[in-house]
Amino acid sequence: MTSERAVDTQWTAISEQLRAEVGEAAFQSWIKPITVREVEKTTVRVSVPTRFMRDWVLAHYADRLAELWGAHDADISDVDVSVQPERYSSLNSEPGKPERNYVGPMRRASDDDVVIKTEPRDDISAPLDPRFMFDNFVVGKPNEFAYAAARRVAEAETVPFNPLFLYGGVGLGKTHLMHAIAWHIRRSTPERNVIYLSAEKFMYRFVRALREQNTVDFKSQFRSVDVLMIDDVQFISGKDSTQEEFFHTFNALVDQGRQIVISADKSPSDLAGMEERLISRLNCGLVADIHATTYELRLGILQSKAEQIGVDVPPKVLEFLAHKITSNVRELEGGLNRVVAHAQLIGRDITLETTQEVLHDLLRANDRRVTIEEIQKRVAQHFNIRISDMHSARRARSVARPRQVAMYLAKQLTSRSLPEIGRKFGGRDHTTVMHAVKKVDELRDRDSSFAEDVELLRRMLEG
Ligand code: ADP
Ligand code: MG
Repeated sequence: MTSERAVDTQWTAISEQLRAEVGEAAFQSWIKPITVREVEKTTVRVSVPTRFMRDWVLAHYADRLAELWGAHDADISDVDVSVQPERYSSLNSEPGKPERNYVGPMRRASDDDVVIKTEPRDDISAPLDPRFMFDNFVVGKPNEFAYAAARRVAEAETVPFNPLFLYGGVGLGKTHLMHAIAWHIRRSTPERNVIYLSAEKFMYRFVRALREQNTVDFKSQFRSVDVLMIDDVQFISGKDSTQEEFFHTFNALVDQGRQIVISADKSPSDLAGMEERLISRLNCGLVADIHATTYELRLGILQSKAEQIGVDVPPKVLEFLAHKITSNVRELEGGLNRVVAHAQLIGRDITLETTQEVLHDLLRANDRRVTIEEIQKRVAQHFNIRISDMHSARRARSVARPRQVAMYLAKQLTSRSLPEIGRKFGGRDHTTVMHAVKKVDELRDRDSSFAEDVELLRRMLEG
């Protein structure tokens, strides 16, 4: 039985590591509110204050939590997340004392577990992430225009263009640039009222105002705004009454010469479900897109990030990551954080090998899709046999071995199942594929030149 003390220490270490992996903002929102309840056999039971948080934590962090916990305590394989509203747990804790109580059997989560906290009326702006400033935004070809436009808005004394419309795919820096504008203005001219919020939040507040028959208040909150920034407006496409309200707020502010900054995942004209008149309004100012990252930009971001966290990461590792994680900057950062956290946890240097190991899932998702046909072709070329021998029934070692290598690589490099792979090799059974994988693994261990051959093929196929 694990003692409470040990659990406490484990949780501190695990939550610190998660902080490094997910970043401060996400940590504060999702990890910090987690309370560890108890450890029962292979399961850690934790709770969060609301159902929404439970769903979010389950969807985004539960697997990782279980993994990290397993690393601390090999007996642990599952994390159970349930809802324990603060009003219950605060009954058995002294005021002012941090809540870390391990209570008995959990209550089942039920519908009335939802606790809706009302926010203070006068603060409609969402908090700004302290990491999102101009200083730590790395500029490169794909984002230089958007960056220049954002800077211009932040530094200008009069409105240079209205609105500034930033758009681009997920994780490319839209929110970062918006927060940077807000930070800059709040610092240089604190008397200006800068509001940043997501379109979702805007909608939520509007709907609440409608329900409470309080739209006058809602409108007046926005009337005193100098700079209004709304993130991810694609969210309100198709939501007609919210769009209507947004349109009026927007027009009123523009007419008064207030600055508006909008972001979306598409250009105004490509936003399906947006009203024409709103689209034409959005198109009126400056539209700046952020393009997909280039290798140079990714490398630059990784270098700056490694410097910020003050960790020595070998250039080879940074180059490798910049080559491999091409989807977006969020994943790139996440990858680096994981590698760093892992090295710190086990107290070893960061190497290319550990990087590949720690990130195998992420790397796989970012991999160029290799097809079984490509694998068969490459392997046949390499061993100088005919491609048709990949499908043939010939069992001579000179063709059977290369075939096994191809099956092995198909298992390693594609997400195909064993039966699917078998079918592609002349309709063989999945057990044949399984045998091939085992055989190749054995040979690699025994014969280093064979291992090198396989490795070479793998690299060529991965491109
Ligand atoms: P978006 O809002 O476009 O989905 P974010 O602004 O949230 O993307 O960016 C995702 C992550 O990538 C953030 O942590 C952000 O700081 C980082 N990021 C994106 N672009 C850059 C950049 N050019 N320089 C430094 N960090 C960046
Ligand atoms: Mg964003």
